[in-house]
Amino acid sequence: MAIWLKRKSDDLQPAVDAEGVKSVVKDIIACIENDGDAGVRKLSKRFDKLDRTDYRLTDAEIRSAMDTLAPRDLDDIRFAQEQVRNFAQHQRAALSDIEVETRPGVVLGHKNLAIEKVGCYVPGGKYPLLASAHMSVITARVAGVGHITTCAPPFNGAPAPAIVAAQHLAGADDIYCVGGVQAIAMMAIGTETCPAANMITGPGNAYVAEAKRQLFGRVGIDLLAGPTETLVIADDTVDGEICATDLLGQAEHGPDSPAVLITTSRKLALDTLKEIDRQLEILSTAEIARQAWSRFGEVILCEDVAEMVVVADELAFEHVQVMTADPDYFLHNMRNYGALFLGPRTNVAFGDKVIGTNHTLPTGKAARYTGGLWVGKFIKTVTYQKILTDEASAEIGRYASRLSMLEGFSGHAEQANIRVRRYGGGNVPY
Ligand code: NAD
Repeated sequence: MAIWLKRKSDDLQPAVDAEGVKSVVKDIIACIENDGDAGVRKLSKRFDKLDRTDYRLTDAEIRSAMDTLAPRDLDDIRFAQEQVRNFAQHQRAALSDIEVETRPGVVLGHKNLAIEKVGCYVPGGKYPLLASAHMSVITARVAGVGHITTCAPPFNGAPAPAIVAAQHLAGADDIYCVGGVQAIAMMAIGTETCPAANMITGPGNAYVAEAKRQLFGRVGIDLLAGPTETLVIADDTVDGEICATDLLGQAEHGPDSPAVLITTSRKLALDTLKEIDRQLEILSTAEIARQAWSRFGEVILCEDVAEMVVVADELAFEHVQVMTADPDYFLHNMRNYGALFLGPRTNVAFGDKVIGTNHTLPTGKAARYTGGLWVGKFIKTVTYQKILTDEASAEIGRYASRLSMLEGFSGHAEQANIRVRRYGGGNVPY
């Protein structure tokens, strides 16, 4: 049976009050709905201290952001974008249209159609998360989306040059410096100057995730990708230093970011706890990481790999780093996770920043029912059918007629009957 060597804080108050967030989000959405661009301005002034008449960046502003960055930074962004594009293109190629003759004369098919207009959110409150621009915008472009609007909050009072460069190089059509709920609502509902999108994507804090939840239905969303979660599964093939580094490397996202270690090795568990204390003395983001670790950090000792799978599947975390003798065991047996990072040579930061898999991933146990963002999320799979012969029309018509009457639908039955009469040369035998 699993034993907890460190549990979440006993008097755990949520980092944000969920009911409070819901009500704030509802009010902000109503404000954008009623006041359009004036609402965007009012809320941007209030939450992000940014006052502009037009929040869409001009070409000159985009050029100036690009000029601000060192050539090396631009090369690094281009490298990361190439990796994301390359993997997304392979994923797109794996999505094929089909057309099959399921019975003589009966042809059924499906087509993959890209969504026309998408709004991609790039988070930037605490850190300028430029990688989210590659993850949403490039993936949408590869999927074939027609028009891409993208938003990010200001960072230190102005558009973050690295985010703007990443949004631009990724191929966004319109770039806005708007953050949080007002950005999600602006892109979903539309304003005088911002066209409404059909779908909103991208990660963000609890306010952003709640805004997507409240607007879902009115627009599509990719998934609920809220505060980052990380799980490290390890045994004594690795040491406490690497486990502690991988836990704190994600806990630094925010005070509400859980980091959990599951292990079969008591020694590794104790070493990791010691290492975490040591690293928290030197990490420059320790203030945030310490809060996350002391509130949400857990260390769970399991009997064997099978128990580690059960505990990990129950957590259904966004990121799962596996550093055991046989990482592929987890690839073959785990069912609930956003992304797996297999073996000590790779890690979550590679995935977050550059390796090419998407970093927008399910949180809050959403991994039980969805994977992360990928080209398929930007694609609608629509079906069609046709009947090539009179005989097939009459045959399906007879079944459709009887089955419609079983449900009491005489209008449906008549739709079938008229075809049986015209193509089958007779009435429907009930
Ligand atoms: P953010 O861009 O998500 O949010 C910043 C915005 O929040 C601000 O512009 C402001 O408008 C709004 N806001 C802040 N306080 C508010 C309040 N009290 N009321 C109303 N609005 C308010 O940036 P962030 O805060 O740094 O959060 C980024 C989040 O994204 C982190 O939690 C990180 O873990 C998460 N993330 C998740 C994934 C994933 O795939 N799940 C990937 C990357 C990042």
